[in-house]
Amino acid sequence: MPRQPRRKSRTETRIPREASGIPEYDRDSCPAHLVTRRQMRDRNLSPGGHEPVAVLRCKHCSYRPQWSCNHPVRAWLYDLALARPKRVPTLAQERALDQAMAARQTCPNCSRRYVFCLPLKSLGSCLECHDGTPADPSTYTTPPPTHRLAA
Ligand SMILES: [Zn+2]
Ligand SMILES: [Zn+2]
Repeated sequence: MPRQPRRKSRTETRIPREASGIPEYDRDSCPAHLVTRRQMRDRNLSPGGHEPVAVLRCKHCSYRPQWSCNHPVRAWLYDLALARPKRVPTLAQERALDQAMAARQTCPNCSRRYVFCLPLKSLGSCLECHDGTPADPSTYTTPPPTHRLAA
């Protein structure tokens, strides 16, 4: 038999469970189609914009079934039937994106990759190659020699 928790001296704002407006479930009685945001993510799903449909009550509140759980450790529950597959960029897409960025940031003359996009259309190279303005060494990385050979 679980002991009734002792009454705390500080007053808690208690809302009757029926008045909370959203169904509440305890961890052991939660329907299978309702999952937390984290469980959604684990399945590569997202709520797809729908509002949480229920509350997963905190452990403490399983002893007080008549009161609504408004503790910060409660979790929002989302309906799997309303979930959408999460769009995850594939590794190939990410690589393509990085290559596109690299092309705009790399000087074809000195092969340095800058942290910003170069005026390749107008100058065709970095500023240092164009007119000798020394570039701030913290704004570029020099590629390893193997990279240069492969290029
Ligand atoms: Zn609670
Ligand atoms: Zn250059």
